[in-house]
Amino acid sequence: MGYVGRFAPSPTGPLHFGSLIAALASYLDAKAHGGKWLVRIEDIDETRCDASHTAEILRTLQALGLSWDGDVEVQTTRKAIYGTALERLRVSGFVYACTCSRREIADSGIAGLEGPVYPETCRDRLLAEHGNAMRVRTDGGPVAFTDLVQGRIEQDVGKEIGDFVVKRRDGMFAYQLAVVVDDAEQGVTHVVRGADLLESTARQIYLQRFLGYATPEYLHIPVAVNEMGQKLSKQTLAPSLATASPALRGLCMAALGFLGQSVDIDPDLPNRDFLATATRSWDRSRIPVAHALLFMGFS
Ligand code: GLU
Ligand code: ZN
Repeated sequence: MGYVGRFAPSPTGPLHFGSLIAALASYLDAKAHGGKWLVRIEDIDETRCDASHTAEILRTLQALGLSWDGDVEVQTTRKAIYGTALERLRVSGFVYACTCSRREIADSGIAGLEGPVYPETCRDRLLAEHGNAMRVRTDGGPVAFTDLVQGRIEQDVGKEIGDFVVKRRDGMFAYQLAVVVDDAEQGVTHVVRGADLLESTARQIYLQRFLGYATPEYLHIPVAVNEMGQKLSKQTLAPSLATASPALRGLCMAALGFLGQSVDIDPDLPNRDFLATATRSWDRSRIPVAHALLFMGFS
């Protein structure tokens, strides 16, 4: 089966340096393996996303010469597909409704990887679904996978995360469900993304198993952080876009350097040739093995 990769930004703002790194890494890894590169807009959390950002992100990708294969998929147009997947989980008895407030969970849950582990209060209460969150049962021991950069990762979803939400109380499908359904339905074979999502991967594999989907390969690149350890998501590319392509090229060079790749490329090459050269010299084994890495700024 051929390689299908993807870049899946959330339109919560313009593309920033952190998402540029993920865009470039997923693009180059796909192209270096003769693969397809899809772009999917992850706007499923409608309270945080805006269509104006979607347009701007796509414009920036175009300005960078990162052209995607096929149509851009948009999660808010795919709710029926997520609904069908949820229905499959429901008939198998893998999900249940939960009425607990954040407060109640915080009070009775023990600390886990991402806040309190849900104490399973509603598991056997057979509550009505309407107006309530839906959680998936997490029994079954640890999930292990081998990340192409980070190596072997093991997580006991039940103990470290707990029964997690697949549909929110407000009716929105959760990221974990949408991403699993989309990656499978789009035939994605390789997920290349920031290591801030490493902890989500076991949950996603867990859902893939319930839904009978294949598990793709995962490659998590380090997340760029500043001296304070904060993710670089505030530095938007918007200002540099206004000053046209040389500034964008500088950001690409910085992103390649961050990814441990060769920067022995003529920075004045047109996009096509620049990306072709970067693709030829792309080397996964040079990506730093770290979840987060200090980014020193743009030279
Ligand atoms: N939409 C997520 C983000 O922008 C990425 C999800 C993924 O790559 O799986 O952080
Ligand atoms: Zn509950």
